[in-house]
Amino acid sequence: MGLTVLMNAGPWLAVPPPGYGGIENVVATLVPELRRLGVRVVLASVGESTLEVDDLISVFPDGQFAALQRPYNQVMGVAHAHQNAVVRAVRERDDIDLVHDHVEAVGLAVLTAMGPRARPALHTLHWDLGKHPDLYGHVDGGDRVRVNGVSAAQLARAPQALREHAVGHVHLATPLAVDAERRPPGDKADHLVVLGRITPGKGQHLGARLAHEAGFDLVLAGPVGPYRRPEELAAAGPEAGQNPDVRYWREQVAPLVDDVRVRWVGMVAGAARDELVANARASLFPLCWEEPGGTAVIESLALGTPVVAVGRGCLPELIEHGRTGLLADDGDGLADLVADVARLDERECRREAGQRFTPATMARRYVELYEQVRRLPTTSASGGGGR
Ligand code: UDP
Repeated sequence: MGLTVLMNAGPWLAVPPPGYGGIENVVATLVPELRRLGVRVVLASVGESTLEVDDLISVFPDGQFAALQRPYNQVMGVAHAHQNAVVRAVRERDDIDLVHDHVEAVGLAVLTAMGPRARPALHTLHWDLGKHPDLYGHVDGGDRVRVNGVSAAQLARAPQALREHAVGHVHLATPLAVDAERRPPGDKADHLVVLGRITPGKGQHLGARLAHEAGFDLVLAGPVGPYRRPEELAAAGPEAGQNPDVRYWREQVAPLVDDVRVRWVGMVAGAARDELVANARASLFPLCWEEPGGTAVIESLALGTPVVAVGRGCLPELIEHGRTGLLADDGDGLADLVADVARLDERECRREAGQRFTPATMARRYVELYEQVRRLPTTSASGGGGR
């Protein structure tokens, strides 16, 4: 197709990530499909990324995720240093047709600031758009920069200035969705699982409380801030509590983790993660925020595990109540649903994933958006002095 995309995954984690990593997982899912469609991909990431690409730009040898937990005035240079290398590549190389950017806040700010010297750019919004109101309330991407969401619900909540730059939403995908219909049924055990970063929005405390009250076994899987394993967190000193997710864990979740009803297994990766989810009776999403894209929701469907969730954010777009999962209005409504989940057919979940959430579906949609962004008319006011 003769298109070269600079895919900016940011400096935080390798692509593919070594376990947790929502954005990096999406990039690792999208890029092979784009290359299959004939798109050349120059990846901006960290040196340890192993994804097969046509070229790699990196400033940092390895992922800087742990730095994200430090105070802003100590870490703001990380994203900026990475983005600086992206800008240099856009300026100096003549093979980049379009930038597909995934770096929160800084990516959008820098690309829009390039004005007419920018290449056409698509910036994917992976997060809660209630964040960064100062930036999102005043975006001006000129002719070159457009944004997309990861669900309709997420974009609907965006400030007007950001919505004016939106070219639509693209649901996330997972490689697990390919041939999901043909995957043999999971070896279902009796536990439920909450998979994700341990953070207030994901509501692990609600899930744990429910497990005790309603009497079911619950496995919590995911990192707490930079800590991937229970031993690492146990060894961390009191200063680790400066991290809000560590504080949440210590104050609201850990007191409910008794290693009988509720267990925390730390971050899980690869086959162990897939097995944990595939063998669960249901994936629980006791959400306390408007979930923007829900990678773990889609992965659960692909692994044949129905979803029981608070129906906030993108959940009603991803889950059909009564067929692929059960949605409650709030945390209080979840208990009855857990008891009811046995009536759902896991084949429906896998079929849904195979039809809606495959990497090929996501890649085709992104190629359409790339074309749309490249066709934007250039106005003389902002585009006249172009390259
Ligand atoms: N994940 C993982 N291991 C864990 C916790 C999460 O591999 O212990 C993965 C999960 O499978 C998903 C991603 O990290 O692919 C998290 O994406 P999600 O959209 O659920 O969360 P967020 O991006 O909001 O952190």
